[in-house]
Amino acid sequence: MNLQDLDQNWIEQFDKPLVIAGPCSAESEKQMMEIAERMDRNYMQVFRAGIWKPRTKPGSFEGVGAIGLNWLRKIKEEFKMPVATEVANASHAKLALEFDIDYLWIGARSTVNPFTIQEIAESLRDTDKIVLVKNPVNPDLDLWIGALERLAAQGIKKIGVIHRGFSSHNKSKYRNNPQWQIALELKDRFPNIPIIGDPSHITGRRDLIAEVAQQAFNLEYNGLMVEVHNNPDEAWSDAKQQITPEALKDILVDITLRKKNDSSDAFSTKLNRFRGEIDELDNQLLGLLAARMEVAKKIGTLKKEHNVAIFQPDRWNVLKKLAIRNGERMGLSEDFLEHLLVSIHKESVELQNKIMEE
Ligand code: PEP
Ligand code: MN
Repeated sequence: MNLQDLDQNWIEQFDKPLVIAGPCSAESEKQMMEIAERMDRNYMQVFRAGIWKPRTKPGSFEGVGAIGLNWLRKIKEEFKMPVATEVANASHAKLALEFDIDYLWIGARSTVNPFTIQEIAESLRDTDKIVLVKNPVNPDLDLWIGALERLAAQGIKKIGVIHRGFSSHNKSKYRNNPQWQIALELKDRFPNIPIIGDPSHITGRRDLIAEVAQQAFNLEYNGLMVEVHNNPDEAWSDAKQQITPEALKDILVDITLRKKNDSSDAFSTKLNRFRGEIDELDNQLLGLLAARMEVAKKIGTLKKEHNVAIFQPDRWNVLKKLAIRNGERMGLSEDFLEHLLVSIHKESVELQNKIMEE
C-alpha cells in the first residue's frame, strides 16, 4: 500500500481535535489511575504513558517496562478510554498488540533508524491499531516519510504523525526547535495523513505549552499530544514540561480552532485585496533582487579584470551585520534575515563565479 491510500476514518471519527494526554512515564498503577480520573474526557480522548523510556543518559529512569501494560489495560477497561504507548523495538510492538493497546507511537529516537522502523513495521504487519510516527530528532523530512512508507508497506493502514520538534545545538527558548516548515511540507505532500502537535516535547517548558498548542491549531493540525501528571514537579521524567490534567483543560478551553476557510463576502473581499498587495510586493521584490544581481555581475567583471578573489569575508561580514541590524529595526527576525542574506549572497557568488570562468 502506498501513503496516498491510507485509512483516514480513524481521525474523522472525532468531532473535536484529538487530544492524547497522560504522563511522560508510567510510574505506578495508582499514579496512572489518578491521572486518568482527573482527565476531562470531553477534552482529552486518549490516555498516553511511556513504559519503555529512551533516555539520553544511562542512570535516568528507564521506564517501568512491561508491567505498565497491565496498568494501561486497566485504564482502558475502567475509563473506556483508548490507550497509547511508545514502542521502540519488535518485542515492545508484539507485547503492545498482545495487550490490545490502541495507539502505538514510534519515538523520535527510533524514527531516525530504518532498521528499527523496519523491525517494528514487520511485527505490526496488517495491524488495525493506530500507529503514530514522531518526527526524527534531526530535521530530515525524507527519514520521516521513509518510516511512514515502511509501515504502509506492511499493510498498516491507520497511520498518523506527531510533530515534536527537532534537536539543535543552538539554544533557543524551546527544547526542540519546531521548524514548522518541515511538518507543513509533510502535510502539503500527504494531506491525508493526520498530524498531531506535541507541545510538551517542542517546548520542554510548561509555561510555553499554550502558545505552541495554539500555533499547531493555527496551522490546522488534527490534534495534540500533551504530557500531564498528577504531580508534575515530582515526575520521574520530563518534570519541567508536564502540567496537571486540569491545567491542560484550561489551555484547551481557551484555544481557538481555525476554520479551513470562510466563504463570507467580507472575508473573501479583504483576503483578495491583501493577496493582490502581496503579489504586487513580491513582484517588486523580485525586480529589486534582479537589479541587485546585475550589480553583483558588474563587480564580478571588475574583480576578473583586476584578478581579485570573488569571496571577500570581511566585506561579507560587515554587509551581513549591517543588513541584520537594519532589518531588525524594520521588525524582521534575525533568523529570517540571516537565511535571506545567505541565499542572496550565494546567488551573487555563483553569478560572479560564472563570469570568472567565461
Ligand atoms: C515521549 O513522548 O515521552 C517521548 C520520549 O517523546 P520523543 O520521542 O518525542 O522524545
Ligand atoms: Mn516525555
